[in-house]
Amino acid sequence: MAEAAVIGAGLAGCEAAHVLSAMGIHVRLYEMKPVRRSPAHSSDKFCELVCSNSLRSNKLDNAVGLLKEELRRLGSLVMEAADKTAVPAGGALAVDRESFSAYVTEAIRSDPNIEVISEEIASIPDFPVIIATGPLTDGKLLESIEALLGESMHFFDAAAPIVTLESLDMSKVVRASRYERGSDYLNCPMTRLEYFSFVRALLAAETAPLHEFEKYKVFEGCMPVEAMARRGDMTLAYGPMKPVGLKGCTASDGKPPFAVVQLRQDNAEGTLFNIVGFQTNLKFGEQKRVFGMIPGLENADFIRYGVMHRNSFLQSPKHLTPFYSLREHPDTFFAGQITGVEGYVESASSGFVAGLNLGSLLLGREPVDFSRQTAIGSLAHYVSEYNGGSFQPMNANFGIMESLPDAPRDKYKRYLALSERALERIDNLINEVINGN
Ligand SMILES: Cc1cc2nc3c(=O)[nH]c(=O)nc-3n(C[C@H](O)[C@H](O)[C@H](O)COP(=O)(O)OP(=O)(O)OC[C@H]3O[C@@H](n4cnc5c(N)ncnc54)[C@H](O)[C@@H]3O)c2cc1C
Repeated sequence: MAEAAVIGAGLAGCEAAHVLSAMGIHVRLYEMKPVRRSPAHSSDKFCELVCSNSLRSNKLDNAVGLLKEELRRLGSLVMEAADKTAVPAGGALAVDRESFSAYVTEAIRSDPNIEVISEEIASIPDFPVIIATGPLTDGKLLESIEALLGESMHFFDAAAPIVTLESLDMSKVVRASRYERGSDYLNCPMTRLEYFSFVRALLAAETAPLHEFEKYKVFEGCMPVEAMARRGDMTLAYGPMKPVGLKGCTASDGKPPFAVVQLRQDNAEGTLFNIVGFQTNLKFGEQKRVFGMIPGLENADFIRYGVMHRNSFLQSPKHLTPFYSLREHPDTFFAGQITGVEGYVESASSGFVAGLNLGSLLLGREPVDFSRQTAIGSLAHYVSEYNGGSFQPMNANFGIMESLPDAPRDKYKRYLALSERALERIDNLINEVINGN
């Protein structure tokens, strides 16, 4: 039986181990938890979601919705777990984070082809391996990677707080999804005065000190709420606090709200909610004080405060192939956020591609190129082929996919047409290459 190792049982590592096992390969999966946890991880289960419980859009007119559908068709473990543990979230796919991790952990631990080893790996091994140690890879392993590939790059990413439902003042909170798509969110409407008082308090609040913070970028898609507020008094009102699509919702003065804070269900029981778009680096006491100014959150119990961490990623275009292997060391693969893909589903998708291609290499098969016609392949090509100025992490998006020859002018129709072509390509690859091999 062929053998491979995967380092890190996160989104990418679990997906990679699952694919390799399905190909009949014996996998040694090294995970440092529970021996050591990164500063963002708090559970000993695998595939932990460190911030939001949302895997974002589930629709085919959105590239991450397409990426999910591609992964489902390919037999992704992460998508199977997400669909099985979903909680209501309008057009998005959000999960009960505990059940989600428990589902993946059980699937991995009960897989006879996967041997889990609780050990922190300190250097790049010299046997076939997928390194999927995430954006918080540090210590000796990071030193070993940098000794081989040169200095990695960094940016800061932040997580949003979670509060309990029972601690909210529901007389001030309205249950509704935007644009009448159900009632999955809790909305905290604000008057103009409440909004500007909140923004002033947010701007004056104390942040936690972060070593080297000033030197690096913050990821735009996960910008701390206080950093957004510094861009202008109205930035939040046009961003995460936009008061649109909530018919009949009124603020304390009986008028339509000037701004709205939304809370999304975080567990299956519906007892925990996270504050959407409120990733933050405020000191914990300041989070309680300032976010307590949000109508309904005056006495909120925070079961997790927002935090901010330095993320590292490789200069992947210099080193990786579109299969996520090193150009100079074809049986050493990287997967997940460390490669410069950004997001939970994107990380899982790179684990899938790396797993499939390490498996193909070990079994003497041709590598599988998903191409830029698919969302999964366009990410792999982006991180390995980007040739612009400064390489930065990337979410799934239609802009990095190969354009259509006769693309409809209407954006919605164009996105659906791109999705249709992508899913056709995935189905063909499954039939002709993956199953046919
Ligand atoms: C603070 C923060 C907030 C984020 N918020 C979001 C968000 O809201 N939405 C989103 O889509 N994405 C978010 N991300 C980005 C990204 O999607 C996640 O980091 C995602 O978990 C990346 O998946 P991964 O598999 O690459 O790494 P991880 O899920 O971090 O998995 C890496 C695994 O490797 C293990 N490990 C690390 N080093 C070693 C070692 N030397 N030996 C053995 N095991 C090791 C770790 O314990 C961990 O289990 C966030 C990232 C951070 C840091």
